[in-house]
Amino acid sequence: MRFASLGSGSRGNATLISHGKTTLLVDCGFSARETEKRLQRLGVDSQQLTAIVVTHEHGDHINGIRVLARKYKLPVYATAGTAACLSADVAHLIAEFSSHEVFNIDDIEIQPFPVPHDAREPTQFVFSDGQHKVGLLTDTGMSTPVIEQALSGCDALLLEANHDIDMLDNSEYPDHLKYRVSSRLGHLNNVQSAKILEKIDTSQLQHIVAMHLSERNNSPNIVLPLFAQSLDCDQSWVGIATQETGFSWRETINS
Ligand SMILES: [Zn+2]
Ligand SMILES: [Zn+2]
Repeated sequence: MRFASLGSGSRGNATLISHGKTTLLVDCGFSARETEKRLQRLGVDSQQLTAIVVTHEHGDHINGIRVLARKYKLPVYATAGTAACLSADVAHLIAEFSSHEVFNIDDIEIQPFPVPHDAREPTQFVFSDGQHKVGLLTDTGMSTPVIEQALSGCDALLLEANHDIDMLDNSEYPDHLKYRVSSRLGHLNNVQSAKILEKIDTSQLQHIVAMHLSERNNSPNIVLPLFAQSLDCDQSWVGIATQETGFSWRETINS
């Protein structure tokens, strides 16, 4: 399975998961034009996309969906709660899934799992090609047993490391925003994410990429050593998804 990011952070998120003839766009938080530009950068023509899979309805995850989905007649997979928040213009393209049931889109199997976040019915995913598993977890205020069970044994993890608690505390964010981000329905801080890595089975892990970093309240210089320590690996092995360029194609391989 191959995967890449078009960009990750509070100004837009979109991830590609590809296997065989199937290429999924997970979230589309950039404008359709910007999304197409970023897809080209990764060597993907929009015509090649199989479907859009949506985690939740926040703007940084859905901004480009209405235009892109209509232009290419792409099915939009979403939970009922998320679908209810999407534009009526894409109602005919919606394919609802249950956040508790595995489903397939062509060559890729998708295991959704619910997460605590301030949206209507937010989910995150583990993608599988039958051999390898790629786990995606962003936009969750805390970990849960369901999350940890889902992410255990993955071959690749795309894991939110949203903020450093002290940086957020000392930031110029208004109090309500500080509270929102750090609440149990907000975003994972670096220490929470590192703890998840220590709790779950990472024996199969080939890739770890930190996602959804706050540009103001976090720094790779904090995330890299923390993740490396949790995984007992070299810092150079830990990836960072940036807002501007995401990260380039990575692949799970047979060991
Ligand atoms: Zn987000
Ligand atoms: Zn969100």
